Amino acid sequence: MNKGHEITRGKTKVLHEYPGQPDVLVVSQLDAISARDGERRDTLEGKGRIAAKTTARVFRLLNLCGLPTHYLSGGEDDDDNEMLVRRAQMIPIEVVVRGVAAGSLVKRKPGIARGALLVPRLIEFFLKDDANHDPLIEADDIVGRDLATPQELGTMSELARMTYEILAHAWRRRDTLLVDLKVEFGRIASGEGKGSLVIADVIDNDSWRIWPQGREDLMLDKQLYRNLETVTPADLALLRDNYERVADTVGTFPQMRPGMIAIIIDGAPFAELGNSVARAVGQFGLASVRHIVSVERTPGYVLQLIAQLDATFAKMVIIAVGATNSALPGMLDNVSANPVLRVDAAAVDLDGIAFSCAKALGLEDTIVYGRVMLMQANVRSAVMQADAQLQAQQQGPPLAPGSSIA
Ligand code: 5GP
Repeated sequence: MNKGHEITRGKTKVLHEYPGQPDVLVVSQLDAISARDGERRDTLEGKGRIAAKTTARVFRLLNLCGLPTHYLSGGEDDDDNEMLVRRAQMIPIEVVVRGVAAGSLVKRKPGIARGALLVPRLIEFFLKDDANHDPLIEADDIVGRDLATPQELGTMSELARMTYEILAHAWRRRDTLLVDLKVEFGRIASGEGKGSLVIADVIDNDSWRIWPQGREDLMLDKQLYRNLETVTPADLALLRDNYERVADTVGTFPQMRPGMIAIIIDGAPFAELGNSVARAVGQFGLASVRHIVSVERTPGYVLQLIAQLDATFAKMVIIAVGATNSALPGMLDNVSANPVLRVDAAAVDLDGIAFSCAKALGLEDTIVYGRVMLMQANVRSAVMQADAQLQAQQQGPPLAPGSSIA
C-alpha cells in the first residue's frame, strides 16, 4: 500500500497518513512484545501481522453488531498488516472491564478471590502515563482534568461493557473464558460524525486475559509473557503459536450463523401484518420467509410446509400470525420441534416479537447477540432522554441527560 507520512510510532504499532484521504489513517502493528512498563522487550517474528488479523477481526465483529469503532477495512489477511481507520483524537484513558477477578484487581483488593465472577461487571479507568505506571484514576478526576465529559464517560463505560459481553459470548462458544479486557476510545477528528466517540486503538491478544476451559493454567494471552521468569527462544515460539491460534479462532467470530425466521400467516387478510413482522425482525439483520396458509382450508399444506421448513433450516424460529382465535400457533407447536411464537392481530407487539426472535438466534450467533445488546442500550437511553426532557419542561435544567449509544 502507498502510505503517506508516519504520524506516530508506539511500542507496538505505527500510524501513517493515507494519501488523498485526510480523515483516514493506516495502522501497522509491530513484531514487538513488551511488559513491565517496557522494561522487558522482545521481538516476536510475525506478531505484527497476527495482531493486525486479531484486531481487524474483533473490530469487524463490533462494527457488525452496530458498535461505533474507528475501523474501516484491511488487516484481516495473512499478508496484510495495514488496517484503515478513521482518524481520531485519542482519549488518554484505558477502560478495563472485568468479568472475573484477576490481575491488578486481586493485588489491590485481596478480599476478592482470584477467579471470582464479577456481576455486575467491574469497570475501571487507568490514566495512560508510562512514567507513573498507568495509575488507576477515578471518574471525577477524569472529568476534573477535562479528559472527558461525564456523558462521554457514561458512553465509554457502556460501550466497553458491551464490547466485553460480545467478546465473552464469542469466546464462551469456544469453551474459553474472557476474564478481562482493555479498550481505548477516541473522538472522530474530522468529517462525518466529527467529535463522536469511537472504540479505537487495537484490541488483540495483548488486550485481554483468556482462559480456555476456565483454567488460568491454560491461558493463551500476553499474561503468559508477563509471568515468565526469563524469556527463552522456546518461550517465544510457544507465545507465537498461541497468538496465531487466537487470531485463527477470532477469525470465526465475525460470521453470521444463518438462522431463519419462518413467518406463517393464517389467512390472506393478515398478509400485511406478516410483512410488518418481517420488517421488525429485519432490524436485527435476521432473514425471514413468509407463507400464507389456512388452518381450516389447507391443513395438509401447513403440515407439509412445516416439515419442509424444519428439514431446510438448521436454526429456525417460527412466528404464527393470525386472529386471536387462530388454531395455527397450537398446531405448529405440536408439529415442529422449533420454537413457535405468536403474533395476535388484536394485540401486536412487533418490537417484542423481534427481540424474542433475535434473543433465541443470538444464543448461537454473536453478531445477533451484540445487536440485541445495542438495541437494549438504545431503548434505555431513549427512556432516560424522554425523562430528561420532561424534567427540563417541569423545572429548568435536566438531572442526568442520557445520550444515544450509537
Ligand atoms: P490488569 O489491570 O489486571 O493488569 O489488566 C486488566 C486487563 O487490561 C488485562 O486484560 C490486561 O491485558 C489489560 N491491560 C492492562 N494494561 C494494559 C496495557 O498497557 N496494554 C494492553 N494491551 N493491555 C493492558
